[in-house]
Amino acid sequence: MDQTFDLKGKRIFVAGHRGMVGSALVRRLASEDCEIVTVARSELDLLDQAGVRRWMEDHRPDAVIMAAAKVGGIMANDSYPVDFLYENLVVQTNVIEAAFRSEVQKLLFLGSSCIYPKLAPQPIPEDALLTGPLEPTNEWYAVAKIAGLKLCQAYRRQYGVNYISAMPTNLYGPGDNFDLGSSHVIPALMRKAHEAKRTGQKTLQVWGSGRPMREFLHVDDAADAFVWLLKTYVDDGHVNVGSGEDVTIAELASTVVSVVGAAASIELDPTKPDGTPRKLMDVSRLFATGWRPAYSLRRGLEQTYAWFLEHVEGGDIRLGPA
Ligand code: GDP
Repeated sequence: MDQTFDLKGKRIFVAGHRGMVGSALVRRLASEDCEIVTVARSELDLLDQAGVRRWMEDHRPDAVIMAAAKVGGIMANDSYPVDFLYENLVVQTNVIEAAFRSEVQKLLFLGSSCIYPKLAPQPIPEDALLTGPLEPTNEWYAVAKIAGLKLCQAYRRQYGVNYISAMPTNLYGPGDNFDLGSSHVIPALMRKAHEAKRTGQKTLQVWGSGRPMREFLHVDDAADAFVWLLKTYVDDGHVNVGSGEDVTIAELASTVVSVVGAAASIELDPTKPDGTPRKLMDVSRLFATGWRPAYSLRRGLEQTYAWFLEHVEGGDIRLGPA
């Protein structure tokens, strides 16, 4: 694919640069000949429409990557519906609208694989969007993300701007949230396996039946795909970003236990929800452009555990109650 949006000399605003995805984007963009623009939360609250408009007008980036979002695992999504729906709707609408007012040339909106119906065909093609009911445990977040991608399409339709959307699968890696009440499955299992290793505990609790299947992508691979799409992708339709492979939660748990080097066996907790049975993305649209991930799941987990150890020991991650 041609590089239709050359990053050379461009000012790229990464919204949400402190998050796992945003920080991976900042690392990835550092190897491009562009200027990375970020703003601290204490300086700009993305929930403040007037503030976002003013900031965008003052800084006038050439491109925006919308990586700021309220995110969380299955329990957090289910417990805080207002936070997931309201905050995401407002923040993304403020950023997209302010970008348009300030004549931003290219915008990449990031969503999630949970925009698809609970019982979508597997692997899930992009056109499965809005063909059936959503998975109830994360519908609040999903509805906000669907609204965001539709808003980008609406701006394209009405004003002819080059705003595109990518829908990544479950991401993990450096900078993830290791808090057991709000995290996704990989950081949760890694943390639990680490604690089991440290204390000599013989079991590791895995929520649900262990049978749901999930696809995972290392966040550095995701950031690489996002930068590639920012440079090359120009179409109206959103693009799935994934590895194209999935595993059961039970298989994932054994791999994490082995990577961490814990001697614990898995104990299922059926009182916790499974969520959607499977959400493997159809990544043929992305792979047709020649892009491929670099990390295998095992190597990605090893790299993430090394990061976890360094930052726990370095004191950046404070482990609260397990
Ligand atoms: P989801 O992909 O939106 O369902 O989000 P999660 O990453 O939170 O959960 C994925 C799957 O892993 C679900 O079936 C969870 O029940 C399962 N799971 C197993 N153990 C855990 C855990 O300790 N924490 C989380 N968040 N999920 C777990």
